[in-house]
Amino acid sequence: MSGWLAIVGLGPGDLRMQTPQAAAALDAASDLVGYATYLARVPERAGQTRHPSDNREELDRARHALRLASAGSRVAVVSSGDSGVFAMSSAVFEAIEGGDPRWRGLDIAVVPGISAMFAAAARVGAPLGHDFCAMSLSDNLKPWDLVLRRLIAAAAAGFVLALYNVASRARPWQLGAALDALRPVLPGSTPVVFATAVSRADERIEITTLAESDPTRTDMRTLVLIGSPATRLIERPTARPWVYSPRSAAL
Ligand code: SAH
Repeated sequence: MSGWLAIVGLGPGDLRMQTPQAAAALDAASDLVGYATYLARVPERAGQTRHPSDNREELDRARHALRLASAGSRVAVVSSGDSGVFAMSSAVFEAIEGGDPRWRGLDIAVVPGISAMFAAAARVGAPLGHDFCAMSLSDNLKPWDLVLRRLIAAAAAGFVLALYNVASRARPWQLGAALDALRPVLPGSTPVVFATAVSRADERIEITTLAESDPTRTDMRTLVLIGSPATRLIERPTARPWVYSPRSAAL
């Protein structure tokens, strides 16, 4: 049997949010490749070989997966959420672009998943109901000044912001600096959602405002949603408010 490579999005955590297509690819694979923390979310299957690696080794991991598939293995590369959103799909294509020309002839499939922004949005209402933009706050692969420039431009243009990679041990100050940069651009009353570990047992959802948001209440598993000036709350008698962005906008 000839090899193939599938880049599989596992969803945000809860197995019920994994697509049947993703489950089928994981099941059919002879080899699983990925960040150890994400591999640990895939149930063990007899006869399957696991190749865990550290975070931030994406390109090496992609090349390793491509070599395995070239040698005839059926390889699933796993990502959390969607495999194409700040995830392994781009690393695989980057490796193909600069790598062994034979890799271009491989059977490669990108298997999507529910991205953290969609899982987080669904827990609070419909904050992404109108134009929005997704950004990674990590300055590992781009300069911090570019992060700030994009944030300010997107907020000033009226996009809702979905922010990934807002904090880690190595990047403790970035979210605070990002919120400070947005304060002159957006009203202090702009709704802000901190959604941590969405769909997992220790999920934590906090709804606050730009004026009151405390960036220390986040970690590596937090997705931050920042409303547009049109995003608003619907208060409820016994539950946290709904957050939604109306479907229409005016100049
Ligand atoms: N491909 C993933 C994103 C990977 S980047 C996706 O589509 O969701 C890693 C970032 O995703 C984390 O820093 C966090 O911002 C976000 N994230 C991943 N899983 C999450 C979850 N269950 N809850 C909230 N945010 C999550």
